[in-house]
Amino acid sequence: MNRQALDELKQQIPLMGYLQAQDWKPTRSLNRGRWMGRCPLHEDHNPSFLVDPHKNLFYCYGCGRGGDVIRFAELYHQVKFSQAVALLHRWRGAEPLLQEAARFYRIQLHRHHEAAAYLYQRGVRSPAPVEHMRIGYAPGGCLRGWLSQLGYSLPDLRQAGLVTSGGYDTYVHRVVFPLEDNLYGRSLSDSAPAHRFLPGGKGGLYSWEQARQYPEVILVEGLFDYAALWQAGFHNVTCSLGTHLNARQLRQLGDGPRTVYLTFDADGNGSGQQAAQCLSRSLRDRGITGRLVSLPAGHDPNSFFVAGGDAQEFQRLVEEASL
Ligand SMILES: [Zn+2]
Repeated sequence: MNRQALDELKQQIPLMGYLQAQDWKPTRSLNRGRWMGRCPLHEDHNPSFLVDPHKNLFYCYGCGRGGDVIRFAELYHQVKFSQAVALLHRWRGAEPLLQEAARFYRIQLHRHHEAAAYLYQRGVRSPAPVEHMRIGYAPGGCLRGWLSQLGYSLPDLRQAGLVTSGGYDTYVHRVVFPLEDNLYGRSLSDSAPAHRFLPGGKGGLYSWEQARQYPEVILVEGLFDYAALWQAGFHNVTCSLGTHLNARQLRQLGDGPRTVYLTFDADGNGSGQQAAQCLSRSLRDRGITGRLVSLPAGHDPNSFFVAGGDAQEFQRLVEEASL
């Protein structure tokens, strides 16, 4: 991407607007239209984050970091420069593009038997989670044509990561879940990497606006875990898309008093349980109670239900969760 296109991007995305969209609030105004607030990049108790909306620059007196909106996106989402640019592009105007892609994938889900069969095998057996999660299917080889017909240019599709540099659909034979600012694709085939995101990171907690209403929240690591719990009637569930939570997800869990039931995979090497314990400690530092749900050995919440576990049994595990 050349210098001019980068400047254009920065002009189109006012830093202040972007910060506010990430829930940042200024706490006091300074002279020359500048603002101070708590730093979204580190644990900040006294406002040390300065924003100059006219220059479109920020600087934090606490962690010493500063720069423009691209630099902010890099630090905030913990991604590389090129990913931050892709993410901002999408945020600026490709939102309709991602929604269009998601809509196309949803139509495909009902046209491809292998997709329905895969969902069934993963325990997604009622229309409720498919509707709620807007699950779709990327057969591969037809998204580009569809979006081009709608008037999207090839550079736009490449920029959003939907099409590869060679011009092919990025997602092939994948079940697709729309996230707030990305699309997650789960491969049906063992020969491709199982998990994929478009460039720009996984974003915040899945469906957090819904889950945060509850004083007790169940946190799982995968979207098929989420789907299984949702289908079983647990609507106080959210998903971190992996056991490592990014800074935004941690802030979300800590945005109010609640108990979080950490329900990671009970894998043989204990890595899920280790991650849960570690997370529980960092939640405690934020004043949030984390409880560890122990699933039967070798199970994740998804396989627990696929193997015949029911809502009462799962509820019992939640009630028996340890501190
Ligand atoms: Zn800072």
